[in-house]
Parts: sequence; structure tokens; C-alpha cells
Amino acid sequence: MVAQLIDGIKIAAQIKEELKTRINTLRFGNVTPGLAIVLVGDDPASETYVRMKGKDCEALGMYCRTLNMPSTVSEQDLLRNIDYLHADPKIHGIIVQLPLPEHIDENKVIMHIDPEKDVDGFHPVNVGKMLIGAPGFLPATPSGIQQLLIRSGHSPEGKHVVVLGRSNIVGKPVAAILMQKAKGANATVTVCHSGTQNLASMTRQADILISAMGKAGFVGADMVKEGVVVIDVGTNRVDAPGTEKGYKLVGDVDHAALSLKAKAISPVPGGVGPMTRAMLLSNTVAAAETFSRKSSQPKKK
Ligand code: NAP
Repeated sequence: MVAQLIDGIKIAAQIKEELKTRINTLRFGNVTPGLAIVLVGDDPASETYVRMKGKDCEALGMYCRTLNMPSTVSEQDLLRNIDYLHADPKIHGIIVQLPLPEHIDENKVIMHIDPEKDVDGFHPVNVGKMLIGAPGFLPATPSGIQQLLIRSGHSPEGKHVVVLGRSNIVGKPVAAILMQKAKGANATVTVCHSGTQNLASMTRQADILISAMGKAGFVGADMVKEGVVVIDVGTNRVDAPGTEKGYKLVGDVDHAALSLKAKAISPVPGGVGPMTRAMLLSNTVAAAETFSRKSSQPKKK
């Protein structure tokens, strides 16, 4: 068996096409979806991510404002700048690029963002809504994973999903989303982590394996059953002497080996990464739609 490739670039492009229609509808009401990205410091990887998010917005005719602040900015000044963004009617979604410098409390910053503008879905209000299955912003990577599964024809409904990793940005939320009693979810989910005993006995039970560990090539063919569907979230730099950059990006799974055993598998790069970016755009458009709806309602006296 040679696995079907779950193409994140193609599926993200479909999602962006669908967003264009919604953006055009908003434009009729004189609303252009606006995203503010707060970048603290000059970490090259963060700068690249922020630049890519800005280009994504531009490509769809959305407004994007990047607020660059030095790594020495005080927590108080950062929070004050978020308040300016809250007050700007052109901004419907706000994200703060993580990680932040050590002297700034990440949780305090996340909690300061208005939940209605928290398009990363990291605010506890949105995390709580996700857990109880109420409408709110879903975090981009986990909701991108769900869309990858559904749109590639591998709905998680009724399947046993095994998640490797329990981080707040991938492992825990993807488990919460896929276990919901809802269309495109309704899976039985097992979450594994560094405390899990006999990991391979867990992964071998997976109909769908989602790996978000950050360990290059960790999952070998002996750890999965024939016909598994694999979503590889891991994005790991490994040395690649002789290439222009001197490194390449690989996932958590041994892609070549699993391709011969799996029914379907997502690549790295070109799998979850483009979906994360598409879902951030989708959340920003949804935030602009809420703004548009609220501003067209008659004001309460
Ligand atoms: P993280 O916060 O470092 O979490 C890694 C998780 O993997 C932890 O829960 C850890 O267990 C578990 N783990 C690590 N080694 C393990 C082992 N040997 N056995 C079992 N469990 C193990 O990472 P993250 O932020 O979730 O990211 C995970 C990966 O996804 C990274 O490579 C990251 O770059 C990538 N990522 C990609 C995207 C994208 O858009 N493409 C987005 C987000 C993340 P403990 O909790 O016990 O420590």
C-alpha cells in the first residue's frame, strides 16, 4: 500500500477560496477584516511567521497591522498597546506572537486580549467554550488538523484517535475538538505524553495518529497498524549539509516508512503548517463578521 498524501497546501487553498466570498460580502457592508499581530523582540523564526501571516492577509485583501516592540518592552507597555488595538475599529482579531521574553507573563498577556478578538483561541474563555462545544474561536493548528481530516475524506467520527503530545496549543485542544459530540468529531481519543508507558502499544491501536511531539522521525513503521491515517504536526529542523540553508524541516514520523503502511499521511512541510495559517485567517474573518453584525444592530438605549 502506498499512502494517499494529505495535501495541506491544496486544502488550505480551498479554505482561502471560501473565505474570499465571505470577505466580499463583508466589503459590501464596508468592513475589511483586520488582523493585528504583536511581535516582541527580533527572534528570526517569529519574524518569519509574522511576515507570512501578513502576506496571507494581503493576498486575501484583508488588513494587517504588525506592531513591533523591542524585547525590552515592559509588560505594562505591552498590555497598554493591546488596549490601543482593542479600541481600533479596523482591527477585528489580535494575536501576540509567542514566545515572549522571560520578563513578560505570557498568560497575563493572553488573558488581556478581548475574547471576541482572540483569533488564536488561547484565551481561557475560548478554551472553555471549545471544551464544552460552544461557539468561539478554535485554536488554528488543532482546527486545521480537523479540517485536514474531514476534507481529505478521513472523518474522525467513530474512529480511535491517538494524539502524541499534550501541549496547550496542539495536543490538548485537538483532543478536546475531536471528542466533541459533533459532526466531523465524535472520535474516541487517547492522549499520550512523556509519562505514557509502552507508547507503541497505544499508537498501534490508532485508526488516526496525530503526532505533536517535536521529535524528528520518532514514530517508526513498527509503531502503527496497517491502514492508519497519520497527521504529522511535528516541525523539526535537522541538518542538511550542502543545502542553501544547511537544514531542512521534517516531521515526527518516519514519513518514507509510514507511507508504505498508512492509508493516508500528511507531509512536513506542506501538511499542518499551511492549515494553521488558513484557520487563523478564517477566525479573523469570523471576528469581522461578528463586528459587522453587531455594528448593524440598532443601538440599545
Ligand atoms: P511541546 O509544547 O513541546 O509539547 C510536546 C509534547 O510531546 C509534550 O506533551 C510532551 O510530553 C510530548 N513528548 C515529547 N517527547 C515525548 C516522548 N518521547 N514520548 C511521549 N511524549 C513525548 O510542543 P508543541 O508546541 O505541542 O509542538 C509540537 C510539535 O508541533 C513541534 O515540532 C512544533 O514545532 C510543531 N507545531 C507545528 C505547528 C504547525 O502549524 N505546523 C503548530 C504548532 C506546533 P510532556 O507533556 O510529558 O512533556
